Amino acid sequence: EMPIVALVGRPNVGKSTLFNRIASERIAIVEDTPGVTRDRIYTHAEWLGKQFRLIDTGGITLEETTLNQEIKSQAEIAIDEADVLVMVVDARVGVVKEDETVARILYQAKKPVILAVNKADNLEQRQDIYEFYSLGLGEPYPVSGVHGTGMGDLLDQIIKTF
Ligand code: GDP
Ligand code: MG
Repeated sequence: EMPIVALVGRPNVGKSTLFNRIASERIAIVEDTPGVTRDRIYTHAEWLGKQFRLIDTGGITLEETTLNQEIKSQAEIAIDEADVLVMVVDARVGVVKEDETVARILYQAKKPVILAVNKADNLEQRQDIYEFYSLGLGEPYPVSGVHGTGMGDLLDQIIKTF
């Protein structure tokens, strides 16, 4: 059985961008209804010969819920489905209330959690990640989904947990 890794975090931190970058297949845009593009949520991925399944929990949308409830439900789905949780935060915004909500839920999961600080596009942003220790999830790993930097270190941490 392939391990399952879930990307979790509040909207707009870059989960889907990281998902596409980590995916080993070319991601096709799935169109269910004309004019409606849906996020693809599962993909196959591989790093250093280790294969895994990746889930973008942000692509799971729930109707009739508040944003806060949706963020909580996505974190709970991630905990249920995954072997490893990757919490994604935004280096440019810093720690916000919704990040603390997600972190609190993940903290209670008896599963490994890796903290990815996305949008760390330059050296200054890569060095300025210490505030993320306050989430209580251990070492923050700076990455840039757009530029691809830091992905090797993040993936090393992910496969170490298998
Ligand atoms: P999601 O809601 O967590 O899935 O976030 P998305 O992947 O849709 O990204 C939200 C926005 O952040 C988009 O405009 C992305 O282009 C942007 N973004 C994602 N990753 C990065 C990054 O590493 N650096 C910068 N500067 N922008 C990013
Ligand atoms: Mg998304």
